[in-house]
Amino acid sequence: MKLSPFYLVTLLGLATAAQERFSYDGYKVYSVTINSIQEAELLDVFSYDQRFDFWSKHRIVGKPIDVMISPSGQDEFESTLNYHNIKFEVMINNFEEKVQAQYNRLKSRARVDSGDVSFTEYMRHDEINAYLRRLEADYPNVVTTEVIGKSFEGRDLLIIKISSGGSDKPTIFADAGIHAREWIAPSTALYVINQLVEVPENSYLYENVDWVFIPVANPDGYEYTHDVERMWRKTRSTGTICFGADPNRNFGYHWGASGSSTWQCSDIYAGHRAFSEVETQALRDYLSAHSHHISLYVAIHSYGNWVLYPWSYADLLPDNADELQTVGMLYNDAVNEYNGNSYIVGNSAALLGTTAGCSDDYARGGLDIKLSYTLELPGGSTDGFDPPESDILWIVEEAWVGFKAWHGYVESSSANSSK
Ligand SMILES: [Zn+2]
Repeated sequence: MKLSPFYLVTLLGLATAAQERFSYDGYKVYSVTINSIQEAELLDVFSYDQRFDFWSKHRIVGKPIDVMISPSGQDEFESTLNYHNIKFEVMINNFEEKVQAQYNRLKSRARVDSGDVSFTEYMRHDEINAYLRRLEADYPNVVTTEVIGKSFEGRDLLIIKISSGGSDKPTIFADAGIHAREWIAPSTALYVINQLVEVPENSYLYENVDWVFIPVANPDGYEYTHDVERMWRKTRSTGTICFGADPNRNFGYHWGASGSSTWQCSDIYAGHRAFSEVETQALRDYLSAHSHHISLYVAIHSYGNWVLYPWSYADLLPDNADELQTVGMLYNDAVNEYNGNSYIVGNSAALLGTTAGCSDDYARGGLDIKLSYTLELPGGSTDGFDPPESDILWIVEEAWVGFKAWHGYVESSSANSSK
């Protein structure tokens, strides 16, 4: 079909308009303090409505729950909370101002030189992959990268492995950036990679243990949050009404059982079937081939200072819950000793409410990886969801201390079991 020039101009106009930045004008962020589990469950009802974006969600009395609400939902939310006598305050009055400030900083920043890394900027996906590939070129005896698949929009899903050689060594595996908007997660993976590979005195950390990372598990979503919609969380696959599924509700272990949505436009849409997304398929295929030597799996997310372990899909504990708790506490104790910060360590469903289709459940239940965690890093406080760029460094340094504690456990337990 031939298109008239008028039609072409209109189409081009639409294509441009579609990429215009999403405005959060009038969006407020509320901080709600719950006094009972019942109050938390009452808030849960809102989480299935896309006007209510829960930045944090949990069951801890006295700890704030943060929720961003579009202008059309604010009266309903406030009157419901007032009716039930639930305390709340407005943490951010107009989220657009925060987003605008961040985009202005992003616009004015220089690109990271090809192959370099930065912990004072949130890097773009191509900058991150250039760094991983530069490490492979510079440290060929230690670093291997592998494209394990393509994202829906065709970006490389790049994995990096750090190893002193040999095969089937106990491995620590981390996924990061599976939720697009959690920018601090890829930065954290990059810092651990950076410290392992580029600081010679850390080489003992990959002597007996291999490390594998996918720093940006959802690159389409990650790029979309930089260009268009800051708080996008899902993949960017096309649906019939809305884009994307929540990749961390899309894994095939008790998929869809709880805490996810069948509504395409929801931020916690589970997908039309388990592993409907090419990004989770690629992870599944890689992990299935390597799970027999993965000792510890960690899904890096933000935010809220949590170290969580399965099950997520139901309020039940795996048979090695005691070990999961003990090893989770190693992370907290190491960080606490380092800078005084602390994490709440415990079962995911009990602490946050049930969420099915997460990678931690799939690792523990689908692949029988004994140690499986979701790490929720610190958030941005009154600056919004993610910390400002000036806070990246202390957060990733803190995480590095926790990861080293986990390495110590993996190394010594594998040495004991081979005796
Ligand atoms: Zn997340």
